[in-house]
Amino acid sequence: MRPSILDPLFAPVTTLAGVGPKLGKVLDRFLGDETRPARVVDLMFQLPTGAVDRRPSPSIADTPIGDVATFTARVSEHRPAPAGKKAPYRIIVEDETGDVTLVFFHADSRHLVQTLPIGAYRLISGKLELWEGMRQMVHPERILDPKLAATLPAFEPVYPLTEGIGQRMMMRTVQAAAERCPEMPEWQDPAFLAKSDFPSFHQAVEALHHPVDRKAAEGDTVARRRIGYDELLASQIALALVRRQQKKIAGRATTGDGGVRFRIQSALPFELTEGQRKAIADIHADMARPEKMLRLLQGDVGSGKTVVALMAMAAAAEAGRQSVLMAPTEILARQHAERLAPLAEKAGLKLALLTGREKGAGRKQVLAGLADGSIDIAVGTHALFQEGVAFYDLALAVVDEQHRFGVHQRLLLGSKGEAVDVLVMTATPIPRTLSLTWFGDMDISILSEKPAGRKPIVTRAISSERYDEVVGAIGRAVESGAQAYWVCPLVQESDTLDVAAAQERYDALRDIFGDKVGLLHGQMPGREKDAAMAAFVAGETRILVSTTVIEVGVDVPNASVMVIEHAERFGLAQLHQLRGRIGRGSAASTCLLLYKGPLGPIAEARLTIMRETEDGFRIAEEDLRLRGEGEVLGTKQSGSPDWRIARPEIDGDLLAAARDDARLLIERDPHLETPRGQAIRVLLYLFERDVAIRLLRAG
Ligand code: ADP
Ligand code: MG
Repeated sequence: MRPSILDPLFAPVTTLAGVGPKLGKVLDRFLGDETRPARVVDLMFQLPTGAVDRRPSPSIADTPIGDVATFTARVSEHRPAPAGKKAPYRIIVEDETGDVTLVFFHADSRHLVQTLPIGAYRLISGKLELWEGMRQMVHPERILDPKLAATLPAFEPVYPLTEGIGQRMMMRTVQAAAERCPEMPEWQDPAFLAKSDFPSFHQAVEALHHPVDRKAAEGDTVARRRIGYDELLASQIALALVRRQQKKIAGRATTGDGGVRFRIQSALPFELTEGQRKAIADIHADMARPEKMLRLLQGDVGSGKTVVALMAMAAAAEAGRQSVLMAPTEILARQHAERLAPLAEKAGLKLALLTGREKGAGRKQVLAGLADGSIDIAVGTHALFQEGVAFYDLALAVVDEQHRFGVHQRLLLGSKGEAVDVLVMTATPIPRTLSLTWFGDMDISILSEKPAGRKPIVTRAISSERYDEVVGAIGRAVESGAQAYWVCPLVQESDTLDVAAAQERYDALRDIFGDKVGLLHGQMPGREKDAAMAAFVAGETRILVSTTVIEVGVDVPNASVMVIEHAERFGLAQLHQLRGRIGRGSAASTCLLLYKGPLGPIAEARLTIMRETEDGFRIAEEDLRLRGEGEVLGTKQSGSPDWRIARPEIDGDLLAAARDDARLLIERDPHLETPRGQAIRVLLYLFERDVAIRLLRAG
């Protein structure tokens, strides 16, 4: 149960004064997800991305032009719009050094006469421009009686916005949320706090949303570091609890005679790479030990992780035990099942597919096979771990493309069998700093080389103005037998963003290439997705227009061309994942990054890196560096762990401290019973690492 001290923070945002159902919906879309509405805590943890400087200038002559200016002046003249004309209402304000024309369109003149009476002094703040040589301000953002000057903060935090809410409303709402923050029991070590000059959590939250200067608003403060450290500590404690739990559960030794593995290896159309052999050996050694395996297999896209998984599952089967392979998407689960089925068959293993879509008699049959042990390997989505799925004797769970799963899901994996060995496979090359925070509890195997014979992918960045040329080139490639992916960022054309919609591109390309073109996107019904994928795999369609649903795992070796539209909108990690879909066969591959200029410096840097390298590790490091420079901080980006406040790339020192602190703490107070332990429980709930608390009860 969540400690009641946190109740005000976990209430829906509509419990805040001034947030009605309409604004509530806007915020739900922005900060909530399918399972829950936006909550006060989600607002409280919104980080400002900067600040508006509203420090007053000493006089009008000193005001900055082209920026937000704040000054005190006397109202000297009203120039209402002439009757019947569309001209704005103008008001002149002045001091000894100059004047400023305030401009109001569609003005309510009664209101203006009241707020800006002639002769009165007013504190005015807004964007100041020069217009025909005169200072003017269109719609001042703030107009105050100078007596109330103290209520105008010198630096006003600026928050990420979404459609339907403006800056001022967002600021008020976030600040109202922050005011809900109670005084918390201190969960940090007092000596560490003193040494780091960290404020209390409560003070830190307040400081976060009331920055005293621009630097503070950009997060460069002890306040943000303090809360970031809280978050890192919460995650490290969750990991420490998992690790402790893992160690306590004795695993079962799984050993076999090598027969199944031998049959699979002989059926493979290729030689295993050195890295694959080593990883397979590591895994078999883990499985043979009477402890639970918790291993991460890290290998860049195309490095051949799937066959490693198969060899692990083969060892389980030799021992007469079952395994599951869990994929993050329906498409990928099906692809794995299709790929592995022939090999499994040759080795005499029974393989079944189970996703949310297997229904009725088929599903019953699979469930029965899992329960009576006649199925050796189950491939599927997270449906594999839902209630009602029981295994005869589950030995091994393989989770593919881990970056889509959180620590939480990982904890659930173990619940389907006593001491299930867990192998997590990720294609995201994770820089060391991050791998510590995600996988601090795991052993790691790395596939550093790609299978032999791969040709480098030629990557080019091309302005979208050259669309026709690109279409021509695709036509020629298809003509000569190649297959191509054409990736679009969003499914539906949106009015506000000129995103190239997959549907629209599909129609356009179909006009040219006819039924050689297929379409695949996340909103299609499952059967249509399968059909689209199958047609492309079979080579019936030659160009697959798709959204990023193909980002993860899809493997069609004959596809050697990829066009990514609006490449400037993707993060580096995502571009790398997408591009990893080609360059898998023996043909030379080409990736065309279509961009719409003008490019910002970060987008340009991303495209340059993509052209320069295919090395996933370098790309990941660069990605972290670019993001560290502030473009998307505080917002969700695909491929990044969902830190709310911490920035592992600049808080690296804190990360190591948090890990050490967490391990020590769990050693001394394994059940979180001391006063600090009790406070730590609050911390875990606050950052939603509370699944770890359930482990306390389990043991
Ligand atoms: P990923 O690591 O991205 O999941 P896959 O397991 O999908 O990579 O493998 C990519 C492709 O490489 C597949 O077509 C697979 O059959 C092939 N492959 C895997 N291992 C080897 C190898 N040792 N030699 C040649 N091809 C291989
Ligand atoms: Mg894969």
